[in-house]
Amino acid sequence: VKSHGKNGYEFFDPTMEAKSLERILMENELRKAIEQEHFQIYYQPKIDIVTGKLTGMEALVRWVHPELGVISPIRFIPIAEETGMIISLGEWILRQACRQNKLWHDQGFPLKVSVNLSARQIYQKDLVDMIKNVLEETGLPPEWLELEITESIFVKLEEATAILQQIRDIGIRISIDDFGTGYSSFSYIKSLPVDTIKIDASFIRDIHHNQESQAIVKAIVTIAQSLNMNVIAEGIELDDQVAALQENGCDLGQGYLFSRPLATDDFDRYLRKDLAQ
Ligand code: C2E
Ligand code: CA
Ligand code: CA
Ligand code: CA
Repeated sequence: VKSHGKNGYEFFDPTMEAKSLERILMENELRKAIEQEHFQIYYQPKIDIVTGKLTGMEALVRWVHPELGVISPIRFIPIAEETGMIISLGEWILRQACRQNKLWHDQGFPLKVSVNLSARQIYQKDLVDMIKNVLEETGLPPEWLELEITESIFVKLEEATAILQQIRDIGIRISIDDFGTGYSSFSYIKSLPVDTIKIDASFIRDIHHNQESQAIVKAIVTIAQSLNMNVIAEGIELDDQVAALQENGCDLGQGYLFSRPLATDDFDRYLRKDLAQ
């Protein structure tokens, strides 16, 4: 037991030490992985749930570790954010997704790719220039790119709005991810420079048998329509959820019911099958 000031003691906690060691190892591994590009982008289809047509896809990163195998972004994105490594990793992800979408475009698939942007990236100094460079380098027209951001960035409302406005001026679309889970969404939504609202999966999970979730979805759809925004539901796993979404006016969706996120080759095959239908 170590004395800590006059009113307390700090105890040595072996699990804390073990955790921080694991954390240090993880950070080192992540740094190496970024240098060696040990990542893959998976693509999850976004579907028009009325016609069943594919409208675009979300890019979702996976870390493919040579010994540990595939590591979920839920495990490493928070570390990349805290350490700042998300800046270089995020640029790599964006370039990869734009380059691949340009290829699909050239092959006759006019799809919009959505790339997740973490709060940390929004506030990086040269974000807008970085994005412009990536578009120029890959040749992807800006209209075929969408960036998914979360409500958390609007804690600094004016700063965030100004940055998003610059991004939209390029011609890139903006979507608010996980909508409904942040603070006071409805009070400021009308002044935000966004094109699409993505309703959080937590409202979709029980929409087919929960009146409250239905009411929330209906309210979000109504607001989106009156503000001329698109609305998409995520986490759709059941036909009953699709029916409930249609009843409440939500026309776009994403989820395991349609497809899990697919590796590039698998998404490529999916595209060609979709076209053949
Ligand atoms: P998110 O942006 O909300 O992405 C949706 C997550 O839900 C993805 O998990 C997706 O695979 C999963 N999902 C899709 N459909 C269903 C479904 O029907 N049921 C269920 N249970 N889950 C579904 P994933 O790929 O593990 O990504 C988790 C989170 O990691 C993402 O949440 C996002 O916050 C972050 N992330 C992933 N890729 C990137 C990236 O490239 N950049 C950044 N900054 N964050 C990323
Ligand atoms: Ca997302
Ligand atoms: Ca989401
Ligand atoms: Ca999320």
